[in-house]
Amino acid sequence: MSNHKEFSQALKVIPGGVDSPVRAFKNVGSEPFMVQKGKGAYIYDIEGNKYLDFVQSWGPLIFGHADKDIQDAVIKTAKNGLSFGASSPLETKLAKLILSKFDWLDKIRFVSSGTEATMSAIRLARGFSGKDKIIKFEGCYHGHSDSLLVKAGSGATTFGSSSSAGVPEDTAKNTYLAVYNDIDSVKNIVEKEDIGTIIIEPIAGNMGLVPADKEFLVKLRKICDEKKIVLILDEVMSGFRAGELGSYGIYGIKGDIVTFGKVIGGGMNVAAFAGRKEIMDMISPSGPVYQAGTLSGNPVSMAAGIASLTKIFASRNLYTKLENLANMFMIGLKNIAKNHGIALQVAVRGSMFGYFFTDKAVKNYNNALSADTKMFAKFHSGMIKEGIFLAPSQFETGFICDAMSEKEINFALKKANKVFDEISKDSAKKANKTKICSKKTVKKSVKNKK
Ligand code: PLP
Repeated sequence: MSNHKEFSQALKVIPGGVDSPVRAFKNVGSEPFMVQKGKGAYIYDIEGNKYLDFVQSWGPLIFGHADKDIQDAVIKTAKNGLSFGASSPLETKLAKLILSKFDWLDKIRFVSSGTEATMSAIRLARGFSGKDKIIKFEGCYHGHSDSLLVKAGSGATTFGSSSSAGVPEDTAKNTYLAVYNDIDSVKNIVEKEDIGTIIIEPIAGNMGLVPADKEFLVKLRKICDEKKIVLILDEVMSGFRAGELGSYGIYGIKGDIVTFGKVIGGGMNVAAFAGRKEIMDMISPSGPVYQAGTLSGNPVSMAAGIASLTKIFASRNLYTKLENLANMFMIGLKNIAKNHGIALQVAVRGSMFGYFFTDKAVKNYNNALSADTKMFAKFHSGMIKEGIFLAPSQFETGFICDAMSEKEINFALKKANKVFDEISKDSAKKANKTKICSKKTVKKSVKNKK
């Protein structure tokens, strides 16, 4: 069956044809391909087309698709049962692997998605601080739980209003919005409101890639210390992606609670939240903050996570290699765009990369929103036709995996050059047409005057 026919079938039985909105390619005005399989750096659709994949399941696949070590661990573990609903040593093993990297994080609880991790972290922070009010930053995404689905308002101290139907205003009203990389916007709120929790992506990857400035994070930590605010660093995307220590390795800032996801599950459904003992012991059954999950810590997912992290820890220079490739791609892309007279802003953090079609620096959500999304859509469609799968939205991050080498990056750059050539030719044609049309209109109007 063709991609189109299969997607049409999906549309009949699944809302929008997808189980997560961005997969529908609506942001780039096209239709998605339907996946048959993935191998290493590549993903294949049901028509047999091959794409160089810079999405990598939105981050988890740091070793690429169908990595043999992770696959073997999953298959071996699955043979003993898929889920027990009772504890297994695999949970402790993965917990120890993660905690071994962060000396201030004493305990960790596993859940099945990033949404659950941040939702539970917020509840825990509220239980610990005894305060309902939280701050989140415009453009940061922390999953789709009610109190975190709050619209990016226009002002720094905008009262939260929900960005989704079905979220009670009563829930959203406890969420205050601050501006990313703008410490005054945080000060303005904490001076007026009794805030108990601040949640942030220290390396924002959900408004495109917008890393925090170090000075901003240092000041944010200081405010939290002074006001006894629980700081949640949401590293669902950046954990073990931006580097082995996530944002901590880059900024040295410690969250009171840190959330993880994606890479810690190696492609399976694993996420987690971790913190100091005194905070984590507030969670049930040790403490009064309720949190639970039927499939939490399930053995197959734990095995995938253990295999993924064990391989990461054993790989020398993994992150240097990935970062070099990300830089090669982004610097190359910027130069090619420049040669075509197209302004591009690029960013790299470890194996994460992002690019915006704008000539202005992108430091926050409003900056990101000002980028040229039409140009992005043209570029994206052109690259798909050339066999390169980039995230189908300007407001997402790209990922390099270990199965890539300079060969893949050179291939992607060559294709990008071709796509920019076509975009430039197309714009030149359109400009020419407009010129001819306007000449005709002038002549016509002169004629009419006569
Ligand atoms: N937090 C961050 C920083 C994310 O990037 C995401 C998802 O991309 C989430 C939370 C939600 O994770 P999930 O999609 O697993 O619910």
